[in-house]
Amino acid sequence: MQEKEIENVKRAKLRQEKPAVYDKVIKIAERHQQGIATPIIDIAYNYACNLKCQHCSAARFQKKARKLTPADLKKLSDEADSLGLCQFNLSGGEPLIFKDLDEVIAALQPSKFHLSMSTNGHFMTQEMARHLKAIGLDKVKISMDDFDEKLHDSNRNSPGAYQKAVAAMMNARDAGLSVVVQTVVTHQNCKTDRTVQMAKFAQENDFTLDVMVARAIGAWEGKHEVLVDEEDAEFLWQVHQKYPALHRDTFPSYGMDKGCGCVDSTLHLTQFGDILPCVFIHIAIGNIFEESLADIIKRGQSIKCFQKYSRLCLSGEDREFINKYMTKFYGKQLPILWSEAFDEEDFVK
Ligand code: SF4
Repeated sequence: MQEKEIENVKRAKLRQEKPAVYDKVIKIAERHQQGIATPIIDIAYNYACNLKCQHCSAARFQKKARKLTPADLKKLSDEADSLGLCQFNLSGGEPLIFKDLDEVIAALQPSKFHLSMSTNGHFMTQEMARHLKAIGLDKVKISMDDFDEKLHDSNRNSPGAYQKAVAAMMNARDAGLSVVVQTVVTHQNCKTDRTVQMAKFAQENDFTLDVMVARAIGAWEGKHEVLVDEEDAEFLWQVHQKYPALHRDTFPSYGMDKGCGCVDSTLHLTQFGDILPCVFIHIAIGNIFEESLADIIKRGQSIKCFQKYSRLCLSGEDREFINKYMTKFYGKQLPILWSEAFDEEDFVK
């Protein structure tokens, strides 16, 4: 399928399954033109996980007394709905080991939101996939570190992880869930057959391949040599032309070229209520236990670098942003506060 067809199929499915969400989604382009943010909120409800992946930075988040509960999520969901937001992604940790997963999904009000979940797929049996679909989940995002089974397993410190991830993708698809394969590319492995093979695999199986460029954070903190360059980015664009299933969040979609989506299209919520402009930018722009979501979005939009269009991914490609702001949280307990990262001159007057 070509890109336009893929987008049309997704929209038709949403219209049929969740008409109230569809009605909000089709307004996104107009809202964007008017400067109104419509972010997907990625929610790290709990950092508990069954794996110990090399790249994980969850342990670096400073532990605080108050943690998210289903009641907090219900409140967030009400606020988000009143602001016209329409998408949540549940992450962690590993959501499939959350004891209160059903309660969490119910609190997010599945009839009002498109719901996705980031998972390593270990526990995505056929029964689990059918159950998730029945309680309102729409999409799963399953990470694949490498198309090479051995490399994936060693990175995850878990023999058999690759096979489980692939089985999870098939189980999810068979249950009617949309499937996104998530992978990270570095400057070292971007322009290789690995990228092409993963795109081909996704295209042939009706999956999306979400390519995330490497950030110099977590295990790679300060290692700017892993960052992709212009040629790598061009290579990804060319593979996308051949296999439209390969996607980056800076690529235009649904006729919109929004560039980097910090605040306007993406927010990340930590287990401790902090809101980040993106899961990779560990600078809190507010906390939902202290302020309204509307006020936090307003603050985010008042920061110049998030307000202006950026063709480049700020956290993984834009050297100026990386050197000026990402380096501010290197070596620190995460996240740092917006007041620590941005000066008066960084704000729109
Ligand atoms: S910084 Fe990169 S990952 Fe984050 S929203 Fe922007 S494009 Fe997406």
